[in-house]
Amino acid sequence: MKAARLYEYDAAMNVELKIEDVPPPTINGPDEVVVRVGAAGLCRTDLHIIEGVWKDIMDQDGSLLPYIMGHENAGWVEDVGSNVKSVKPGDAVICHPLRTCGICLNCHYGHDMYCEHGQFPGLGLNGGFAEYFLTNERSLIKLNTNIAPLDVAPMADAGITAYRAAKRAAGLLRPGAYCAVLGVGGLGHIALQCLQEISGCRTIAIDREPGAQQLAKDLGADFVLDGGPNVIEEVKQITGGGAHVVIDFVGELGVENICWKMLRQGGEMIVVGYGGKIEIPTLELVANEIKIGGSLVGDYTELVELMELNADGKVKMHYSQYKLEDINTAIDDFKHRRFTGRGVIVP
Ligand SMILES: [Zn+2]
Ligand SMILES: [Zn+2]
Repeated sequence: MKAARLYEYDAAMNVELKIEDVPPPTINGPDEVVVRVGAAGLCRTDLHIIEGVWKDIMDQDGSLLPYIMGHENAGWVEDVGSNVKSVKPGDAVICHPLRTCGICLNCHYGHDMYCEHGQFPGLGLNGGFAEYFLTNERSLIKLNTNIAPLDVAPMADAGITAYRAAKRAAGLLRPGAYCAVLGVGGLGHIALQCLQEISGCRTIAIDREPGAQQLAKDLGADFVLDGGPNVIEEVKQITGGGAHVVIDFVGELGVENICWKMLRQGGEMIVVGYGGKIEIPTLELVANEIKIGGSLVGDYTELVELMELNADGKVKMHYSQYKLEDINTAIDDFKHRRFTGRGVIVP
């Protein structure tokens, strides 16, 4: 099969993936499923993998390369293990990014992301920037009949990550409250739509890119800011003292330390993007009772909920499509933000 493989890490990202012919994955266990990839979303995590940020976690012994990334996958079931009952070859599916065990206590609680034996195709195991990839039955959700894999693939990770953060925010936001969303890219534009559907809050979308600002306006954000040097003051003015919740989809480049300054007393910052370092005086936490916490991808059931919102036309993925052989162009366009929404690779 055709696959895009990474041969070296490079902090400066001056490396290209090689498009090669490699053996397709085969079923090794009774619960495994080979999926023919219909589309795979390109994620900032993929850039971080190339940069070597994940090396110590996913490639401890240095034996992983050459490696196939791609963890936002949807497609059609190609082959199934002997115990698989819920899907059959030909079924269109979206793949929760984590292969969970279903047996550990965290799995029983439904906390998929805390699974003690979870495996993450595209992050340590070969993923979906290829014609086929291997996962397990537990990770699959059948698509509604009118939904094509291409239209939803990035929902598998970008989508649920945004949905989980928006759902947590919605629980903190009364109607009339303000939620600021920093970064209106592949995740932020989904979060805006989710907030509008599941919360009565007012949204403030913040992004430096004119294309992203336009997308936020098109999606109905109540306020759209360009993230200039006065952005904290602008948010305080709009909100009458600070946002009730701030969701940080950037998490680096200094944005992480702008976000908490936008909060009002008792407000909460939800960190989704990563790479930077938050520095905050402890007095600030105490005097203003602000809370800061991370949000990690999303549970299987959250992907089910998001797919229901999608099937009803309430939350849609905006994407630009690239062929697998053009993946290096897609990565370059992503780095330089030449598209809005998500980049999607189609083998
Ligand atoms: Zn991702
Ligand atoms: Zn488990």
